Amino acid sequence: MKNKIKAILFDVDETLFDRVLAQQAILELIVKQMPQVFDGYDPERVLAAFLKSDQIYTDLFNNGAPSEGSRDRRSKLFLQLLGIDEKYTAKITELYVKDYPGVKAHVDGAVPVIKKLSRKYQLGVVSNGFTDVQYRKLEAMGLRDLFSCIVLSEEFGIRKPNPGIFHQAALLLHMQPQECLYVGDSYTNDVIGAKNAGMHVCWFNRDSQQIPDEKIKPDFVITKFEELPGLLEK
Ligand SMILES: [Mg+2]
Repeated sequence: MKNKIKAILFDVDETLFDRVLAQQAILELIVKQMPQVFDGYDPERVLAAFLKSDQIYTDLFNNGAPSEGSRDRRSKLFLQLLGIDEKYTAKITELYVKDYPGVKAHVDGAVPVIKKLSRKYQLGVVSNGFTDVQYRKLEAMGLRDLFSCIVLSEEFGIRKPNPGIFHQAALLLHMQPQECLYVGDSYTNDVIGAKNAGMHVCWFNRDSQQIPDEKIKPDFVITKFEELPGLLEK
């Protein structure tokens, strides 16, 4: 494997950036900035509503729903779940977009491993995500400058698992797909997508899930980020 791989491409959410940890941190910031709205609400109930509304809209997005207006719909659902007046919808969205990318929520080991790999490989990002927050997340983690290409679905117009978005990254790096390794946490978007694009794939399977379809297998599976450099030495 050592000589075959020349570039490593990464997913962002739940691969480099711990989205659930970030959701908890951003909710704390939102509640702090709107004390009059959340005063008297059980914090656990507020968190559950926030995570539920986020999960519903993340699933819809992953299933191809249009991104436009989805943040406001998510904020509105969050308020509805708590029985809070919907007039705060726009404010919740505004605080979310402003504060979310700066929260400290990198996945354990991701930052030092990326730095280490950057000395030997060309690195890139292929992510389904909103342009305004994805760049800022990478910046907040101190990683943006280490990536030679960053391909975001909302900018490029094609989402994972469509092989086209993976091919775009290979093209920008002047690599063949088979010279690239893609690392991501989603079996559907990352493993199937990158495999169909002709890349090598490392499934970042933090929760040790079963492979959903034995017919499409990742080349590697890791449960911790620190396992990645060792795989490439083999
Ligand atoms: Mg992901």
